[in-house]
Amino acid sequence: MQLKENNDYDIIVVGGGVAGVSAALASARQGKKVLIIEKSYILGGLGTSGLVTVYLPLCDGMGHQVSFGIAEELLKLSIKDAYEDRYPTPWLKGGSREEKIKNRFLVQYNPHLFAIVSENLLEREGVDIIYGSFVTNTIVENDRIKYVVLENISGRYAYGCKNVIDASGDGVLAYKSCEDVVEFKQGNVLAAWYYSVSKEGYKLNILGAADIPEDEKTGNEEYLCDKRFKGLDAKEISLMVSLSHKVIYEDFKKKRALDHKFLPVNIAGIPQIRMTRGLKGEYLMSVSDDKKSFSDSVGLFSNWKKSGPVYELPFRALHGTKIKNLLACGRAMGAEDSMWDVTRVIPVCAVTGEACGVASALGDWDKISVSDIQKKLRENRVKLKVKEVI
Ligand SMILES: Cc1cc2nc3c(=O)[nH]c(=O)nc-3n(C[C@H](O)[C@H](O)[C@H](O)COP(=O)(O)OP(=O)(O)OC[C@H]3O[C@@H](n4cnc5c(N)ncnc54)[C@H](O)[C@@H]3O)c2cc1C
Repeated sequence: MQLKENNDYDIIVVGGGVAGVSAALASARQGKKVLIIEKSYILGGLGTSGLVTVYLPLCDGMGHQVSFGIAEELLKLSIKDAYEDRYPTPWLKGGSREEKIKNRFLVQYNPHLFAIVSENLLEREGVDIIYGSFVTNTIVENDRIKYVVLENISGRYAYGCKNVIDASGDGVLAYKSCEDVVEFKQGNVLAAWYYSVSKEGYKLNILGAADIPEDEKTGNEEYLCDKRFKGLDAKEISLMVSLSHKVIYEDFKKKRALDHKFLPVNIAGIPQIRMTRGLKGEYLMSVSDDKKSFSDSVGLFSNWKKSGPVYELPFRALHGTKIKNLLACGRAMGAEDSMWDVTRVIPVCAVTGEACGVASALGDWDKISVSDIQKKLRENRVKLKVKEVI
């Protein structure tokens, strides 16, 4: 098949999950011509078609908001139109510190509305979106990605651009470009989250909890099966998906027996795999980075599992050591195994996405100055240092 060329864009973002949406938005707001390439036909990734609809906290659990900018904008967008009453009121109405400690700054939203309003937002900001397009490869020259290669219904294309952002969740771009990557060794537990309607209304059924440290287990965690899934083999992913469907079917039958109105209304359109592969950042974040000060900090985030920790995000966790025009955000950023459970969640995807979007608009990571990235982020009201929020 002949490769058709397109050179219309400054920045290409691969993947339209929360990280990709945030990155594209940030780059477009810096005046760049941006394209998001998405293999499915909906924005939001795991956060919409994966039915993972809990926007975890922007605060540290001690009453301080730590993530701002696009992370806060998207949280508010996610509940616009229908779920505004779910906004944790102490955060909206200037509640006391005690109230903010009791109610962390998180929401649950509707996946369908979030996908649509995200798309509207990107279109308003001038971002082009190409759906149904699977990135299969890159063409690298002189340590830079010259073309991103994709296939879709109209053929095979080589998209040229100045800078590229890997928001694929699986480090696809880094891997295809022979940048160093890290794989999640532990593997993922089976998850089978789905939406239902019943006498109680429209509801998210959460089956398959995230890994919880041994000392925090209550004995009520539901792991569904002992097998762990790495998520990097098509056959293994297919097995995991069909197992999750069986689990949903069993759960449906149990609940239907108690309520004749109970029906599943949505099952996930993409595999519910938490962690697979990411960029081997020049710096790999770890849990011991709590409150560590980094001179190249480009954002702040908290730990959804624990109250207290606040992490500065070093720019070096968003780029590797080889490919000069590639940055990675969201699940694909550079983090150690122990830290991925913290960095993979929705607010952190937005924080890392915004940082990548702003930095990519300035140029290759080895040429730009971190203080320029920081200046632009501060103009967007992003906080960068722990001492600014505590
Ligand atoms: C079961 C489960 C429960 C979770 N619970 C929560 C929770 O309660 N709260 C929370 O905040 N987080 C939760 N998470 C984590 C969070 O949802 C995700 O980690 C986060 O949404 C990932 O965002 P992302 O943009 O990095 O990646 P993704 O959402 O994975 O988006 C990547 C996008 O890239 C596209 N893509 C991938 N490869 C290609 C390619 N080759 N070409 C074109 N497009 C491509 C995909 O289709 C997808 O749209 C959970 C995750 C799982 C699996």
